[in-house]
Amino acid sequence: MDDVILVVNCGSSSLKLGLFNRDLESLATGLAERLGQDDARAEIDSNGKTLDLPAKADHQQALEVLVQGLRDQDLLGEQPLAIGHRVVHGGEAFTAPALLDDDVIATIDRCASLAPLHNPVNLTGIRATRKLFPEVPQVAVFDTAFHQTLPAHAYLYGLPRRFYEDWGVRRYGFHGTSHYYMLRRSAELLEREPGQTSIISAHLGNGCSITAIRDGRSVDTSMGLTPLEGLVMGTRSGDIDPGLVAFLDRKGIDAGELDRILNRESGLLGLSGSTNDMRKLVALADDGDRAAGQALAVFCFRLARYIGAMMASLDRLDALVFTGGIGENSARVRQDTLAHLGLLGFRLEPDANHHHGHKSGHRISHDDSRFPILVIATNEEAVIARAALEQGSDHG
Ligand code: ADP
Repeated sequence: MDDVILVVNCGSSSLKLGLFNRDLESLATGLAERLGQDDARAEIDSNGKTLDLPAKADHQQALEVLVQGLRDQDLLGEQPLAIGHRVVHGGEAFTAPALLDDDVIATIDRCASLAPLHNPVNLTGIRATRKLFPEVPQVAVFDTAFHQTLPAHAYLYGLPRRFYEDWGVRRYGFHGTSHYYMLRRSAELLEREPGQTSIISAHLGNGCSITAIRDGRSVDTSMGLTPLEGLVMGTRSGDIDPGLVAFLDRKGIDAGELDRILNRESGLLGLSGSTNDMRKLVALADDGDRAAGQALAVFCFRLARYIGAMMASLDRLDALVFTGGIGENSARVRQDTLAHLGLLGFRLEPDANHHHGHKSGHRISHDDSRFPILVIATNEEAVIARAALEQGSDHG
């Protein structure tokens, strides 16, 4: 069983593995959580068994345990055919997946100033995997790469030019792998060539972003220098008045503390005061919880505004596409969002919106809708596996 591709996604205290065959079908997933803590744990989903992980296990140990677990289940032979890594920030250096060598690793390291919480930990996973499988071609797939086609008028902030020139302060955008998958899959469903497909793709998970894709290229997206900009998210604020920084400084909240609040204590959680889980939020709102109702309303209104804003980058719209845990599952969010956009001609078909089979993609728009509206389950791991297979087998 050597014809498998391994996908590695390293978070600060977690490690996710995906195993795919050459047809890019998922064979198994592995997850290690709470790494570095006393109660670190790991499991492989195919049998639900928990694996033994030493207390305070690090990423290297977790990787070894998960790989051994996959071998014990005969899912992985000596080594995989290729390995794909999710890397958050590729700066302006990477416009496509890159075969990992020492130079590419050094460049990812240089991009770490743009994503200090993510790139170093992505590199930890890359180094651990290279140590374990020194012979196997490994490919980095960047969250930012798909958005490198943004025109300057979409990526420049209204700031002094030197911030961009000296420090790379510009809009980069994230979730690129998911938005790219949305492009490919909606092109299939619409029977169009990806390069001739124009969509607005809304990825609504814990993190949320929306992208305008014009003839196969990302031309505007809601996240910016960091994944904090744009839509209201689970715990992130999305857009705020930049004047807030100085205002709160005068109240004794410094930039570091504010950064933490904007990332971890804001969004749906901050507004509702109780949860960032959309299922619970909708239930609370329906029970008359005023803060939960307002959180839902702010989330949907901000999203509707951004759908309108994305129109400025398109000359044709082949479909509006929803994905991510919320986008795929919450008929309520889709309904409340599109209720703001009647003027643009979006119209849902209520039955289809509530009872869609979302696995491979489904149309939820009314026949009278000016634009098709689709729900598609995202599959970032499959995109990473494909990149690893294509680039890796060229060089393996
Ligand atoms: P992540 O960005 O961490 O991958 P997901 O894409 O899994 O997150 O999305 C998580 C969000 O999806 C949560 O807000 C969760 O409440 C929401 N969600 C998942 N299933 C449903 C559902 N059936 N109805 C409404 N929201 C859902």
